[in-house]
Amino acid sequence: MDLFAKCFEWTEAKELMASGYYPWFLPLDETEGTEVTIRQKRLIMIGSNNYLGLTTHPKVRQAAIEATRRFGTSCTGSRFVNGTLAAHLELEKRLADYVEKETALVFSTGYQVNVGTISSLINRGDYVITDKDDHASIVDGCHMSFGTMKRFRHSSMHDLDRVLGQIPEGAGKLVVVDGVFSMGGDIAPLPEIVALCQAHNARLMVDDAHSIGVLGGGKGTPIHLGCNDGVDLVMGTFSKSLASLGGFIAGAEPVVHYIQHHARSLIFSASMPPGNVAAVFAALDVMIEEPERIARVNHIADYMRQAYQKLGFNTGPSQTPIIPIIIGGEYATFHAWKALFDAGIYTNPVIPPAVPPNQSLLRTSYMATHTDAQMATVLEKFEQVGKQVGLI
Ligand code: PMP
Repeated sequence: MDLFAKCFEWTEAKELMASGYYPWFLPLDETEGTEVTIRQKRLIMIGSNNYLGLTTHPKVRQAAIEATRRFGTSCTGSRFVNGTLAAHLELEKRLADYVEKETALVFSTGYQVNVGTISSLINRGDYVITDKDDHASIVDGCHMSFGTMKRFRHSSMHDLDRVLGQIPEGAGKLVVVDGVFSMGGDIAPLPEIVALCQAHNARLMVDDAHSIGVLGGGKGTPIHLGCNDGVDLVMGTFSKSLASLGGFIAGAEPVVHYIQHHARSLIFSASMPPGNVAAVFAALDVMIEEPERIARVNHIADYMRQAYQKLGFNTGPSQTPIIPIIIGGEYATFHAWKALFDAGIYTNPVIPPAVPPNQSLLRTSYMATHTDAQMATVLEKFEQVGKQVGLI
């Protein structure tokens, strides 16, 4: 049996390409934030995680250029050995203060934070308990660990209580949830989760990839919901509001110190390049200097959510600038995606396994820099396409 047989036989994506409905890996020729160009076609971008629109901010751009000029394009080594700059340490201090934790540790991607943190903390005999809608990087971290993974129904406190109650009393337990769920755009009920963790003697980690820069005045979900002291570890990425690439884990010094010396995704991978580090610093500065950006992205989100609902679309559980338009079937979703693309609107189609079967959706997300005129165009096109494909 040839190992590659499955590759030669797998035709799903090729069939989609032939049908003209293939939505993945489309190269963006121009990307100035709220509008992009793909194959000479201009589109309004409502499929990005650039929530504050900072990837093109002059201060952020300039900071990355200057750091690249001074330190070069890469650290060419792991944080463990030749890849740590003073700037990495300064960034860690700044982030820890920002999310109000004792200390922080910077990784090269958010994905690596989750796999490295979870797999280093969960040893044989330990348990990691995840929400069924947690991000794939959390799931992968669990699979890479030597402990046992248990899952609870999405945001069901009854089910979390049940799952925690089944775990042997003396075992180490870590509950991991997204602060804002990346597909539904809903906020985890953290105060209730904190209470259950305390009742069952479990530790709690929150993946705040989609809330840093958006909730809690930019500081994330635990601060937004007033329960930061009950959250042991806060994880964040730089690839969204912070306009860069990389991520961090923040918490008590001994715990972060342990992760620093055990997380294989940190130790065996090169560190964040200087330009990326500098971009995060500048993005944090701009977030503080221009707080109106955070207010604006949340205002746009509320406005768009209400407008979609008024038109008759199903926006699922969204409470944040991530607004899914739930369609159901995969092909109906590709059909709507293509019609919107042709109408000049960029969305992201999401199908299983990223969402449960028959819950395929168009993921839309908003930026502080979107204009009212752009939002009016988006709504007009959604109404047209929604009627055309029978969604509303
Ligand atoms: N966690 C969540 C909830 C995410 O949405 C993502 C990115 N999509 C990540 C982690 C991984 O972050 P990064 O892109 O920085 O690797």
